[in-house]
Amino acid sequence: LDGFAVDLGGTKLAAARIARGIVVERLQAPTDGAARPETQVAAIGGLLDRLGHDPGAHLGVAVAGRIDDAGRWHAVNSGTLRTIAGFPLAEALRRDVGPATCLNDASAAALAEARFGAGRDSASFAYLTVSTGIGGGLVVGGRLLESANGLAGHVGFVSSRRAEGLCGSGRTATVEAVAGGRAIAAAALRDGHPAADARAVFDAASAGADWAERIVARSAEAVALLIGDLTTILGLDTVAIGGSIGLAPGYLDRLASALAREPTLFRPRIAAAELGHDAPLIGALAAHLDRSI
Ligand code: ADP
Repeated sequence: LDGFAVDLGGTKLAAARIARGIVVERLQAPTDGAARPETQVAAIGGLLDRLGHDPGAHLGVAVAGRIDDAGRWHAVNSGTLRTIAGFPLAEALRRDVGPATCLNDASAAALAEARFGAGRDSASFAYLTVSTGIGGGLVVGGRLLESANGLAGHVGFVSSRRAEGLCGSGRTATVEAVAGGRAIAAAALRDGHPAADARAVFDAASAGADWAERIVARSAEAVALLIGDLTTILGLDTVAIGGSIGLAPGYLDRLASALAREPTLFRPRIAAAELGHDAPLIGALAAHLDRSI
């Protein structure tokens, strides 16, 4: 696994040089969710230049949103990336940076965790990231589940009986609309705590505030129900949890106690993601190398 990789999320852009499967150099810059896609491509090119990338090198690019089989990039939650609607990302990269494989960031992370991390012994595996939104990737029988429209694996947009209200995807009452960071901050606002982002809600819950505990517990319950539902469909044996909220102190424990209410059959092994913020980078390059051979 030698080459370069990029991870473009709603809040940050990371680029890395990878040697023998290990991130040896990493650069990061903030992203602007409202920026034009051309600007994002230029930012990608800038970081890769500084890492010594040349157009002949292997390159994998993981992004928030979906990538269809023509390499076009679409936001799924319009609140995260506001200007991305069918942008020809693969073509723009080929022209300005070099040939690259593009895929969803959580799908890339799932592939990396399945091969090299928490899912390495799994036959039916899901990776869930609990971050600003809820992302997911599914690896069954060693293969990443993909679809021509790039939507496969976007499990945050599944309905949830813990949720209400409109989701940025246009659906209503989704897991993302109750469990993600943006939803947690919105719930705090409704409870009369307008300045609280997800991190502040977690801090308040740790300090014993009932209102905050309720919000965090509801997020964990919604994710636990999602895990039970996905297990019904895919017979999951292992689920790895990532994202700043998923890996926040106490979240995995809350998730485990919510999941304990499910019958044994619907309760896969839950583990923290092992590759941390390198997962989408390593997975993107792995996906590129899979497609190049
Ligand atoms: P992204 O959504 O861009 O992938 P992250 O995985 O870092 O990025 O998720 C960002 C979300 O995580 C925000 O809602 C933020 O408030 C929340 N967050 C960041 N750090 C913590 C923390 N220590 N505890 C709880 N929530 C956190």
